[in-house]
Amino acid sequence: MEKSVSLLGSTGSIGRQTLEVVRELGFRVSALTANSSVELLEAQAKEFLPELAVLYDERAAVELQRRLRGLPIRVSAGMEGLMEAASLAAADIVVTAVVGMVGLRPTLAALERGKRVALANKETMVCAGELVMETARRQGGEIIPVDSEHSAIFQCLRGCAGKGEVKRLILTCSGGPFYGRSFEELEGVTPAEALCHPNWSMGAKITVDSATLMNKGLECIEAMGLYEMPPEKISVVIHRQSVVHSLVEYQDGAMLAQLGTANMKLPIRYALTYPERAPSPDPPLDLLTCPPLTFAPPDEAAFPCLTMAIESARTGGTACAALNGANEAAVELFLRGTVGFNDIPRLVEKAVNSVKVKWNPTLTDILEADREARCVVGQGR
Ligand code: NAD
Ligand code: MG
Repeated sequence: MEKSVSLLGSTGSIGRQTLEVVRELGFRVSALTANSSVELLEAQAKEFLPELAVLYDERAAVELQRRLRGLPIRVSAGMEGLMEAASLAAADIVVTAVVGMVGLRPTLAALERGKRVALANKETMVCAGELVMETARRQGGEIIPVDSEHSAIFQCLRGCAGKGEVKRLILTCSGGPFYGRSFEELEGVTPAEALCHPNWSMGAKITVDSATLMNKGLECIEAMGLYEMPPEKISVVIHRQSVVHSLVEYQDGAMLAQLGTANMKLPIRYALTYPERAPSPDPPLDLLTCPPLTFAPPDEAAFPCLTMAIESARTGGTACAALNGANEAAVELFLRGTVGFNDIPRLVEKAVNSVKVKWNPTLTDILEADREARCVVGQGR
């Protein structure tokens, strides 16, 4: 079952774990891409010998080319490079592990070629869920989720005879580092505090999103897109232990859940090997020593991002693209220390209210809503 993988975002948290799984499975690598990390991409390219290595940053790509001279590896840059990596004929699977909306066009390019996309890059589904699903359907492409909640739901839906059988999708949420605090108590929290996630080790942007609960809001939108469910069929429950990765409630009252340790290699491995399951070298969940499992409702007053995301999903059109673009820009400002933690929901709300919603959006409308939302955040800080 040896497959070849194009890995977009190979130097990040998901990217590095994907390479561990690729090593275990003995898969080949067609392309590796990153933003600007010359050193790490060089080391990865020398180990996996892809046909193509891409750095989004042009200057970094020139340096990478110099370092890889003499090897049979082509080096490319920019969005063009990402698109090429996503479209390579030799790649059976494209893993989208880049962070942010920059993953949208490469994801579409992979689906246009009928490839399997192992999708970690949730921002793509948030901004353009319908377009992504429509492209996959039209071209015979396949989307297997890597996000742990969506992978859990995907696994719990195996054997489901049709959408009519499903009553609700229930996404579990760790609650992040600030669980139990009020909105007022969150006013002064620092980037260092927000970057301390209790259960998962992830990239900076998603870790901040997990602290504001925007991550869960984005995941509700992602689930609506992937499983073509209306917002009222999606619920969120706080589950501090991150053992139950999500659940499906069926019409007859049966609830199926997927449990496991907090290890992204499981959903990554499943997305690469589906419909098969490959053995894992990692220790499995030990039911006898794992902590008691608890469930609670989310506090929407303390974490308004969750509610805002669900409202944007109800609005539809380009509303989610504006929400996502504003959030990406606001999180970047927070990480730089330019704005406070609670300015994230304030700036996102401002942008969502100012960017005019377009219905049945084209790719251009989506990119434009994203750009406008970022401008509003830039001006409002
Ligand atoms: P990360 O910040 O650790 O890595 C991001 C990767 O994207 C890096 O390789 C970086 O070089 C690349 N990148 C960033 N900006 C780029 C640009 N402009 N052009 C090209 N490449 C660029 O992020 P991560 O935690 O690995 O998350 C990646 C995606 O997976 C995100 O969408 C995140 O929401 C999703 N996700 C992550 C986890 C997790 O456990 N880390 C879990 C679920 C979903
Ligand atoms: Mg998740």
